[in-house]
Amino acid sequence: MDQCNANNRDFRQTSAAEAGAVLRIDLSAVRENYRQLQSRLGSTRCAGVVKADSYGLGAVQVAKVLAKEGCDTFFVAHAGEGLTLRAALGQGPAIYILNGTPPGAEAETAAAGLTTVANSLEQLAAWREAARAAGRKLPVALQVDSGMSRLGMMPSEVETLAADASLLDGLDVVLVMSHLACADEPENPANAAQKQAFDQLRAKLPAAPASLANSSGIFLGPDYHYDLARPGAAIYGINPTPGHANPMREVIRLEAKVIQTRTLDKDIGIGYGHTFRTTGQLRAATISLGYADGWHRRAAAGAYFNGVRLPFIGRVSMDSIIIDISALPEGAVKAGDLVELIGSHQTVDDVAGHAGTIGYEVLTGLGHRFHRIYEGG
Ligand SMILES: *Cc1c(COP(=O)(O)O)cnc(C)c1O
Repeated sequence: MDQCNANNRDFRQTSAAEAGAVLRIDLSAVRENYRQLQSRLGSTRCAGVVKADSYGLGAVQVAKVLAKEGCDTFFVAHAGEGLTLRAALGQGPAIYILNGTPPGAEAETAAAGLTTVANSLEQLAAWREAARAAGRKLPVALQVDSGMSRLGMMPSEVETLAADASLLDGLDVVLVMSHLACADEPENPANAAQKQAFDQLRAKLPAAPASLANSSGIFLGPDYHYDLARPGAAIYGINPTPGHANPMREVIRLEAKVIQTRTLDKDIGIGYGHTFRTTGQLRAATISLGYADGWHRRAAAGAYFNGVRLPFIGRVSMDSIIIDISALPEGAVKAGDLVELIGSHQTVDDVAGHAGTIGYEVLTGLGHRFHRIYEGG
């Protein structure tokens, strides 16, 4: 956990002047989204899922503002993410490791006061051993597989656990959880089937607070809320109700700088492979952002300047994209000006649609060359 650490926080912050693009993260929108979810949940507590550096937006910055909203429970995927978060937040909040602790990292994880999610009897045994070695009781979350077949104890493992109380020696079960595979499809019968399986499995385990819902799961209604909900995406502005209006506030704004502009005649090839040719005179600008910044090469979208859409032309390059600025008055954009790529005109979900992927992948793929501005903290 020291000199070789390549976590995001070790990337050098790029200054506004030198950066090719600017990423604004609206922490007041993060707070508002969290408040909205908490109010939907009523008496169910709302955790914050801050894995993968808060979906690329900065785990420490996000967790700190969620804590100000009263959030006292966080979920990360990896033990290393948990250690980083513990160092930033202090001893107060509960921090759960969704993937469980990798073999060999139990002592460090336990010493940092992190709660492992035991996804198998094997992970549970290793955590029991860590409690024995530490000479104290350790908290544990039990994840059961209610039908996603990704992480969690299989029904047969739950039976084994139910039949032998010594498998929990030295452990304090603080949460029983499972994860929904199809929560973003409210009509999918898999949701009710998973809920039923979850209820049957947790009935065999020691009584403990229960947790099933991610962001979309919260919108399936109170039957899915249990004691603790685990939203990530909705906090970051991704629509938890695909196909319906997004009830969440947009959190990010991504803008790229214009590097240069040019006027082109008819029948000129543009970009790699000349996949676009001018059919008449055209004014083009090249902007300083490309697929190395997490912009999918297939996401042929547009940029926006003063509300005017400026379509991409030609292929997305590693560090640049060419846009058609003919819709703007001559001289309206010049080198150094910023055009908007993600924001009010084109959301994270819109960009995901252009790329044939989901907003989660767009956010977590955002690169490290941007000048990052945190607003409303
Ligand atoms: C990522 C994750 C979540 C959060 O899911 P969202 O869809 O982003 O709300 C919750 N629980 C588990 C187990 C996860 O892996």
